[in-house]
Amino acid sequence: YDEELTKREALAAVGQLAAGMAHEIRNPLTSIKGFIQLLREQMETDGNQSYFSVILTEIERIDGLLNDVLVLARYRDDKIVAERFLVMEEVLGVIRLLEPESIRRGIRLELNWSGEQWHVFGYRARIKQAILNILKNALEALASKGSVVQVSAYASINQVVIIVEDDGVGLSDSVKQNLFVPFYTTKPDGTGLGLSTTQRIIIDHGGEIFADNSPQLGGARFEVRLPISMQ
Ligand code: ADP
Ligand code: MG
Repeated sequence: YDEELTKREALAAVGQLAAGMAHEIRNPLTSIKGFIQLLREQMETDGNQSYFSVILTEIERIDGLLNDVLVLARYRDDKIVAERFLVMEEVLGVIRLLEPESIRRGIRLELNWSGEQWHVFGYRARIKQAILNILKNALEALASKGSVVQVSAYASINQVVIIVEDDGVGLSDSVKQNLFVPFYTTKPDGTGLGLSTTQRIIIDHGGEIFADNSPQLGGARFEVRLPISMQ
């Protein structure tokens, strides 16, 4: 128990260190991104455009990684404020964001929702990020097989339930056990931070998240439950 406590303290210290570094790396990275964008505009005509695309994609990747580390370490960002918001606005926003890719790949991205609205209290952008992480995984699981991702939303007593199901590769037992472990990934270029960040966000909003296989579709099924905010 004593040993457990020390271990937990050590982990927390490492988390703080990682978060502090992530925070410090972010500022110069933002400046690099800005100047690269400027350079790209000034060198519009020649064959450098693909280099700029690669550089900017990689910067986005680092930025996403830093963001995940900050969320995981519960690093406080004074710039974002908690608010009461309509959770389906964010779900619809994510779907809209992923529609072009789905259409391009011939994936059906379906939404089962009555149109009823629910408020959630917390960080709008974080909830959007959490839903996006789940949906991005679903699309990635369809890479070789599968063609449908279903998003369902309904209210159950005092919670809004958001379910994302796909007919992709599904979850093996070992994957199911490690899904939420930071840096666990089965993808060659994955970070393994998507679902650990998502779980942290959902739990910090007083919600729950479950993962299993979808009996209907044969792929994975993620269920997110968030408390409905009553005025
Ligand atoms: P990453 O996407 O970078 O690998 P995540 O934390 O988002 O990291 O996901 C962790 C792992 O969980 C993935 O590498 C994958 O093996 C598994 N996974 C997540 N979502 C799905 C899904 N919809 N279908 C199958 N496997 C999934
Ligand atoms: Mg992911």
